[in-house]
Amino acid sequence: MAGGRGATGMGDVAARIGELVRKCDRCGACLAVCPLYAQNGREIASPRGKIAVVRGLMDDGLAAVPALAETFRFCLLCRACTGSCPNKIPVAEIMIEARRYAAGQWGHPARHRVIAALLGNDVLLGLMAGVLRWTRNAKPPAGGPSASGAPASRGQIAYFQGCAMRLFFPAASRATVQLLKRTGGVVVPPGVCCGSPHLAYGMVDQALALARKNIERFAGADLVVTDCASCGSSLKEYGSRLAGDPRWADRALAFGRKVTGLSEYLFRAGYRPRGGLAAKVTYHDPCHLARGQGIRNEPRDLLRLAGDYVELPSAGRCCGGAGAFHLDYPAAAGGILRDKTADITRTGAAMVVTECPACLMQLGRGRRREHGEFEVRHISQVL
Ligand code: SF4
Ligand code: SF4
Repeated sequence: MAGGRGATGMGDVAARIGELVRKCDRCGACLAVCPLYAQNGREIASPRGKIAVVRGLMDDGLAAVPALAETFRFCLLCRACTGSCPNKIPVAEIMIEARRYAAGQWGHPARHRVIAALLGNDVLLGLMAGVLRWTRNAKPPAGGPSASGAPASRGQIAYFQGCAMRLFFPAASRATVQLLKRTGGVVVPPGVCCGSPHLAYGMVDQALALARKNIERFAGADLVVTDCASCGSSLKEYGSRLAGDPRWADRALAFGRKVTGLSEYLFRAGYRPRGGLAAKVTYHDPCHLARGQGIRNEPRDLLRLAGDYVELPSAGRCCGGAGAFHLDYPAAAGGILRDKTADITRTGAAMVVTECPACLMQLGRGRRREHGEFEVRHISQVL
């Protein structure tokens, strides 16, 4: 396996994946937590089934046929399985490498190529953001003297505005900048896509190229704050992803250590909301915040101070958005979303809050489809 060339050699990647999949003792502890297995009950959809396929390819002469690409794509990369696995096998990581292998064999789906090209191109992304802003008559986020786009300089807190926040949630993005201003100065350097979508498509080399650009553009900042869970997880992992690249390893590690999620930063900076939020509020854990970064308490603690907080049952279960998964597999994503929407409704909350634009889109979709009587808000808009 490992059909591409990243920072690490192909042989190293294959050896690492082989080592990981051979740790699976087929105990099945992961089955109960996989949202996709819960939907269709098929072994091939489960973490154990996916690992068996990779192992079959590597060790047992399983024939490489194009249908395998679907098996590898049919994963939310939600990491729930790893949490319940006694051997902590990183199935999402294995699926990323499996997708890279599949793309090397059979190419990428056209939709993935288009999305990756758009998000990977500064100019196209800027144009699209401008058009969407014009249709909404919205303002770009203001962040102080450097908001016009200069790279961050030493001593600054820099806001990393991910693509989805920029394109689809400019109001939440502005609210983030206002919050950051209250805790000190903030600048908005011209970052590029964090590379998370490219990674999810198995386009590892493109993801690493974007990582190097961001490391350069945020080189001077003391702290890089993001209000997108997927970006945060991706940015924090630059160090491990570029560990095999001697020219970038140290810089990537240092960069990753400067990255913090919004609620994580606010809580540690001593920011406390004054309260007064009229609506009863609940919280959905983005996979990339809770499992990707281990951030669960900070958003809850802040929301408890903001208003009448009620815990959402299975708050950590993926909402089914998972980047573009809902576009590739609408039926499976829709089933997961129905359960999530029903859980939110049962809490009696008038508002569900989260810290990830992909979750915001998916929960908003759920509210519309199921006629949910709750609002969906980014955490920056309620603190
Ligand atoms: S990462 Fe999520 S969707 Fe993928 S196999 Fe694990 S639990 Fe299932
Ligand atoms: S819990 Fe871990 S070891 Fe057990 S079947 Fe799942 S992936 Fe394999």
